[in-house]
Amino acid sequence: MTYNINEKLIWMSTQNALAANAKQQPLSDWEQAKLVKRIKSLLLQKDAVLVAHYYVDGALQDLAEQTGGFVGDSLEMARFGKLHPAKTLIVAGVKFMGETAKILSPEKRVLILDNQAECSLDLSAPIEAFSAFCDQHPDRTAVVYANTSAAVKARADWVVTSSIAVDVVNHLKNQGEKILWAPDKHLGHYIQQQTGADMVLWDGTCIVHDAFKATALATLKEQYPDAAVLVHPESPADVIAMADVVGSTSKLIQATQTLPNPVFIVATDNGILHKMKQVTPNKTFIEAPTAGAGGTCESCAHCPWMAMSTLQKLQQVLQNQDNEIVLDEAVRNKALIATERMMQFRERHVNKKHGVM
Ligand code: SF4
Repeated sequence: MTYNINEKLIWMSTQNALAANAKQQPLSDWEQAKLVKRIKSLLLQKDAVLVAHYYVDGALQDLAEQTGGFVGDSLEMARFGKLHPAKTLIVAGVKFMGETAKILSPEKRVLILDNQAECSLDLSAPIEAFSAFCDQHPDRTAVVYANTSAAVKARADWVVTSSIAVDVVNHLKNQGEKILWAPDKHLGHYIQQQTGADMVLWDGTCIVHDAFKATALATLKEQYPDAAVLVHPESPADVIAMADVVGSTSKLIQATQTLPNPVFIVATDNGILHKMKQVTPNKTFIEAPTAGAGGTCESCAHCPWMAMSTLQKLQQVLQNQDNEIVLDEAVRNKALIATERMMQFRERHVNKKHGVM
């Protein structure tokens, strides 16, 4: 069965993002220092805090940390924003991350740096088609990845991140539930393999992770026999099969600190290398290949929508208070139920693992 995955819309949005990014003027060191100073002052004036994803420009990640903000995955960003006292959250990431922050922090103003910053997974699952998918499988529990719109989260029973997806689905399987999964088919396949759950999968992909190539990775591994291969589970199954560690962005960063290997081949967005080099400066990092010999790549291991977040746009957004995330309150409330279900599960699960009940 083929589900509506909006391929044309994804292609157009990718091209728009690539074209917009190509127009960005690089900053000199002097210009960047001046801009950073101005942004720091605006953050204070506007009672705002910056939360950044691991995939955005390293200068934004550094600025978030220098100003009392946060760098992490989408859910950690939203949780940090909820607990922080600032009235305004500035999200350096993509649109669904801004929406997740708003779901958890309705009383705050949530701004994103570019309102064209989409995600191929989010775009692949428009609410009407996803709703029809749910209607076709009324006997299944709908579990969706965090990389979805607020409307899709509102229609789902559970929202999960890559760090907890396997645990949640395992728990549901043990309750005798059958799963409807959206939107990432590779992550869905990985979860199915790990849990043995009965799952039907939506046919979406992340354009960055989907581009990693197993054959070229095998050649690279031969060149670096001491390397450990770190793979995000949004990658194709044959790439995951070659991994030493499979996991969320946080788990992959942690692996660079705990594994003894001097070299890491990294199959996820190359924005993560900034944090990996910070936490493990004495090791070597190599991007996993996105094309075999003579091949080409479009995303080339970097998300075109994540690349839309820049220091220049941060200054504009702070100055003008643009790009506010606004959600319908009924949708937000329903999306909150599915999101909080995961957060409560995580608390119970983490506590249990550490012997605290
Ligand atoms: S890296 Fe992939 S999953 Fe993340 S925002 Fe970009 S397209 Fe979406």
